[in-house]
Amino acid sequence: MTPSPPSSDVDFTLFVPCLNEAPRVEGTLETVRVALQQIGRSYEVLVVDDGSSDGTSAVVERYRAQHPEMTIHLHRNPVNCGVAYSFVEAAFRGRGEYFRLIWGDNTEPVETQVRILSLAGQVDVVIPYYPDVAGKSAFRLALSRCYTGLVNGLSGFKVRYYNGSVLCRRYQAMRWSPHNHGFTGFLADLITQLLAEGATYTEVAVVGVHVEKDKKATPLTFHNLFSTGLTLIGIFTRRLSYAIYRRKLGRLNPKSPTTAATARDAVAIRCHVCAGSSIDPVAGYEAFHRVTSDCKPWPAGGRLCVCRTCGCIQKVIDQAWRSEVAQIYDNYTIYYQSGGVEQAVFDQNSGQAVRRSNRVLQHLQANAELPKHGRLLDVGCGNGALLRAFSSLIPGWSLVGTELSDKYRLAVEAIPGVEAFYACPPGEIPGSFDLIIVMHALEHIPAPADFLVQLRGKLAAGGLLIVEVPDHLQNPFDLLIADHSTHFTAATIAALIESAGYRLDAMATDWMPKELTALARRGEGRSTQSLPGASMPGIVSAPRSLAWLRSVIAAAREVATAGNFGLFGSSIAATWLASELGEAVDFFVDEDPSRLGKTHMGKPIYHPRDVPAQSHVFITLPAPLARDVALRLEKSHPACTYHLPPAFPGQHERHRVRAPIESDDP
Ligand SMILES: [Zn+2]
Repeated sequence: MTPSPPSSDVDFTLFVPCLNEAPRVEGTLETVRVALQQIGRSYEVLVVDDGSSDGTSAVVERYRAQHPEMTIHLHRNPVNCGVAYSFVEAAFRGRGEYFRLIWGDNTEPVETQVRILSLAGQVDVVIPYYPDVAGKSAFRLALSRCYTGLVNGLSGFKVRYYNGSVLCRRYQAMRWSPHNHGFTGFLADLITQLLAEGATYTEVAVVGVHVEKDKKATPLTFHNLFSTGLTLIGIFTRRLSYAIYRRKLGRLNPKSPTTAATARDAVAIRCHVCAGSSIDPVAGYEAFHRVTSDCKPWPAGGRLCVCRTCGCIQKVIDQAWRSEVAQIYDNYTIYYQSGGVEQAVFDQNSGQAVRRSNRVLQHLQANAELPKHGRLLDVGCGNGALLRAFSSLIPGWSLVGTELSDKYRLAVEAIPGVEAFYACPPGEIPGSFDLIIVMHALEHIPAPADFLVQLRGKLAAGGLLIVEVPDHLQNPFDLLIADHSTHFTAATIAALIESAGYRLDAMATDWMPKELTALARRGEGRSTQSLPGASMPGIVSAPRSLAWLRSVIAAAREVATAGNFGLFGSSIAATWLASELGEAVDFFVDEDPSRLGKTHMGKPIYHPRDVPAQSHVFITLPAPLARDVALRLEKSHPACTYHLPPAFPGQHERHRVRAPIESDDP
């Protein structure tokens, strides 16, 4: 697929081909108008009059004059050019991000258009099919089935229907070169090309009406059979050429799957941990509001999946995810609520704040014997918080930071002990390192296994790798972070690290609350040892976590009815819950001094001591932590009532954590 699609300022370009549709085209335009009003997204209609002689264009022009609120372009082909020709032509003339053909004869009800268009952005391609088509004869049905079977056989895909008008990105339509300019078979040609290129897709059942315009017309004319034959030959030869050149295509865009695209309604993507292709969507995820990892609200949507082989929970890395993440990172503000000051971690008994980098480094000093001098690589160094803490706690080391963008280069380079800052893939950073720290970075990386393999090449003999990631079993709110591509557990992060050629020394759950810290050394090479089996927690925990999140919304909503309602926290969990509850939230409560006196989502942030008396405060934390906080606040600030989220069903059956493994290094 083209890595950088052309920019668009309209959501949809709707291409309406017409050949003598004067009696019906007004109805078509009216259906489009109503459907798009329901969807509420921007669009343009591109009518192509393909050589009509019945005044179709005049009808379109009259309708356009009556509806100045719609953008309708009319293009007239001087002679009949065929739908396939006009389709590509319209894709080039359009400006929308997504592109779809809508037949000029008004065969599609509003609900069908709404259903198809509202899936824009969730997958690359939406393929409609029609379980019941009123008015179609048994003969035509049989013919249609036979045709579908033939195309599936020749293309190697398993699609229910090849004559439905697909929704795709406009640039995908621009890249298509049809095998014929005729009427029959061109949609099958388009669909098979999109799937062969690795597009993710979904098939949706929709309602359609079959219109027999000319009762005598038969699909079995010489012209139709010839055109269909050409298409079928084209589909098969394309399959052959992709089979021969697939490896090259894969190298061109390694993220683009070229093999798994036959799965129906499932996701044509490889597991981030085990590279398996049996990946199931987690039902209901798309209904949740989401948040960005810099704690900003993010709209509902997105797709969460579980690998059936290793149990890893992950996002589907498709065009939609990539473009969302690009948007998130474009506006990224590190430690956004605290104005750039690193997030504090609280001792829930004392309420004392510690900067998270200091806490990690204290654990590191206590658990690993660091030499006086060495070279550290901080992967995903942000604005340099960890490097700054390291340089003051453990001076004498040479420090290197790396980030995706250059945004904080000057700030990082100014830190004492920092030798260089790089914004390049880790494999390209010169030299090797005694310590590599990957804190809150791996869960963002779409291909974490490849990334760890690259890092392994940078680790000196006897060097130590430290990876810290959120643990979604301890903290289900992590699933709601839109730009986290993998949601790890102790088992899946361990499997990933070992399969990338490291030897795991220890897996700590107590360095940071709700997080996993893996300590690993350079191993013998990429391991092929068996990965965890199908009974791993992800399959169970993903739906269970979503159910728990739903129960959190319900519980908070109930408390909110009492009025004077606030949420404890102003980070991921509270931001998410506030988006779910909307105006019911009156304020946030936070103990982090850097956030006090500020507002979040338009609401004030209070210290517990400043919360108005008689208020209700909902503790937005995973259940065990929430209890500790509530007990402490009830003692120190008893003027308001504290409410706990429902108990998390998994909290008592904690997953097994690997015992630390003795290092046999000298
Ligand atoms: Zn897997």
